[in-house]
Amino acid sequence: MQRVADGWRAEGATVGVVPTMGALHAGHERLLRTARRECDRTVMTLFVNPTQFGPREDLARYPRSPAKDKALARDIGIDVVFAPAVEAMYAEGFATTVHVAGLTDAWEGAARPAHFDGVTTVVSKLFNITRPHRAYFGQKDAQQAAIVRRLAADLDFGCRVRVCPTVREPDGLALSSRNVYLSPVEREQATCLYEALCAARDLARAGTTRAAALTRAMRHTIRRRTLAELEYAAVVNAETMEKLSDIGEGPALAVVAVRFGGTRLIDNMPLPPPTTRRAARARATG
Ligand code: AMP
Repeated sequence: MQRVADGWRAEGATVGVVPTMGALHAGHERLLRTARRECDRTVMTLFVNPTQFGPREDLARYPRSPAKDKALARDIGIDVVFAPAVEAMYAEGFATTVHVAGLTDAWEGAARPAHFDGVTTVVSKLFNITRPHRAYFGQKDAQQAAIVRRLAADLDFGCRVRVCPTVREPDGLALSSRNVYLSPVEREQATCLYEALCAARDLARAGTTRAAALTRAMRHTIRRRTLAELEYAAVVNAETMEKLSDIGEGPALAVVAVRFGGTRLIDNMPLPPPTTRRAARARATG
């Protein structure tokens, strides 16, 4: 893979990489098509990375459809699907961990200890292996995207991190490989994440700026669903992931994590900055 990527670079081609764990859906497809459009050469990595799963998480049952995934990548025009074996990525004696401090502490990092170390270690390896000029990640995993952006800058990978918008089902549920775990009634109730985020966004648009009020609305929306167990609902700075008390304090992002039985779902939505809202109010009142 390194030789192939170096060959492309020597020809002056722009190389893009889309890291995935497979079980591809329209969210992945969006990243792949964007990479294909923006880069001369594109690599999709397909690797269910064991080190980013906790001991009680779903590594063993994580959905896998490699043949279908490779066919889709081929249809989109991806040049190479890099799908290494676990032993090839983590040879005997493997002893290195890449840790991004601070950004990884809260939210997903608090709920899933060691998860982000697994992500940043494997992404560092994938960047070194595929030598990309650009790497494509989804807004769906906003904290991961912020962490990878930090990682790429801090370790001088020479790779621009592009974050693509979240792709949703018609009823608003963000596409996720884990949605297949949901029972029909859980699937029905799972729209509460999107509804909670929309409630916060609508309040923000109408002039509410205090995070406490926005968070209350999110919690209320989620608690109406009998099977939903709220893990967190918060308003954070989209770049630092630090909790905000007012959306005027920075680029604001509403984030939620909800558990349905053994399935954890996460979602997020940018909130409009206060100036936009003031302008909107001014427009509305003429
Ligand atoms: P995964 O295979 O779950 O590791 O995801 C691979 C990439 O796809 C990550 O950058 C995710 O953020 C991104 N992704 C997952 N779901 C979506 C979605 N619904 N919309 C956009 N990107 C997504």
